[in-house]
Amino acid sequence: MAEATRRVLERIRVEISAGTLEENDLELALGGLSAAVERELRASLSYSLRPVINATGVILHTNLGRAPLGEAALEHVREAASAYSNLEFDLERGERGKRDIHADRLFRSLLGGAGVEHEISTVVVNNNAAAVLIALNTLGEGGEVIVSRGELVEIGGSFRIPDVMAKSGALLREVGTTNRTRIADYERAINERTRLLLRVHRSNFRIVGFTEQPSLEELAELGRKHGIPVMEDLGSGALFDLRDAGIHGEPGVTESLRGGMDIVTYSGDKLLGGPQAGMISGRKDLVTKIRSNPLFRALRVDKMIYAALEATLLAYVRKQYDAIPALRMMQLPIEEIEARARAVIQAVEISTKNQALLLQVLDGESVVGGGAAPAALLRTKLMAIASDPISADEIAARLRRNDPPIIVRVEEDRVLLDFRTVFPEQDGVIIKALQDVVASRV
Ligand SMILES: *Cc1c(COP(=O)(O)O)cnc(C)c1O
Repeated sequence: MAEATRRVLERIRVEISAGTLEENDLELALGGLSAAVERELRASLSYSLRPVINATGVILHTNLGRAPLGEAALEHVREAASAYSNLEFDLERGERGKRDIHADRLFRSLLGGAGVEHEISTVVVNNNAAAVLIALNTLGEGGEVIVSRGELVEIGGSFRIPDVMAKSGALLREVGTTNRTRIADYERAINERTRLLLRVHRSNFRIVGFTEQPSLEELAELGRKHGIPVMEDLGSGALFDLRDAGIHGEPGVTESLRGGMDIVTYSGDKLLGGPQAGMISGRKDLVTKIRSNPLFRALRVDKMIYAALEATLLAYVRKQYDAIPALRMMQLPIEEIEARARAVIQAVEISTKNQALLLQVLDGESVVGGGAAPAALLRTKLMAIASDPISADEIAARLRRNDPPIIVRVEEDRVLLDFRTVFPEQDGVIIKALQDVVASRV
């Protein structure tokens, strides 16, 4: 109580000294003091991390928590975390076991058909950034790692290949040019200190025009010839053929392994549609080496992550793709999105007699996001809101103040909602929120 009062008074003090509070406002502020303290108190006792409605149409929105988890994943997290589990306990032998097996057996069955002769194993760390770090540290420390200049990427602000390489203790050996790198460039750079050939997926940009990049097969062949492992950082790493959903240019994990990559790294919460995690899949001897790096202990994941990941992977094994919300959203028929937008418009128009908002359906595009498939846009239908009395930014701000907050796109003084990323059971909340916007109740 004292703390809440202190914070409210401090805010008023700051506003007075900044000169933003006029005399009238000051009286208002003082009059509303007890209400303000009550609001502050309530906020301090409730969650800061809250669910929001994502009406942006960006399916894997990093700022909104990337992939939402399906029911089975949540139920499995609940059962694994609310009681004891066999996380590291071999029930057969009654002795200590390894946490890796829970995910590894499913990855084996999913990647087993990759047509690769050697055995494939997978270990899981905190995220893909951690996967790249520990793989480079294990396979490249003290030696050189060869990367094409066109693949020295930055992903999501703070993940930069040259910086991660430096932290791994491996020396970055750049070859080729920004737009063209040939297999001969890699071959010329190989020397006795070379430990790894690295390929990095250009997740969030494309190079078009006069370009050249060796094929996976050429790179794998070169590695084999010199006895040097080849690794690919896939970023998203789809486990599912996304071409069916109209998404092209996003390399699959099996494709990469079949192409001869010894190690691949990818995220759990991008196209895979699971919890935040980083996967390292590939040649068993190399994965075992990475697993025994002391860094693994610092980067390993908790039982809740294994539970969510196991449930997500099991859905893939059973081909229940609809159980994975991100995949379901990618495959949502445009007619269904349009019908929902029209139903919401009708409900709002009837209840508000359409006083202040101009509502219409427009053609648009949804975005896969999450640093995945930069060219992957899905045709969609958008619900557009324009208003004379209220600016688009103000409508967006009012929708953010809704409980739960609704996050939208604003373009050309119009608010755009894409129902692809809205769960159908949330449509009613949006109708109610728009009624409140019209009635100025928010
Ligand atoms: C997204 C991405 C990463 C980082 O993955 P996180 O799971 O966010 O840590 C690394 N490399 C590539 C190519 C990516 O696309």
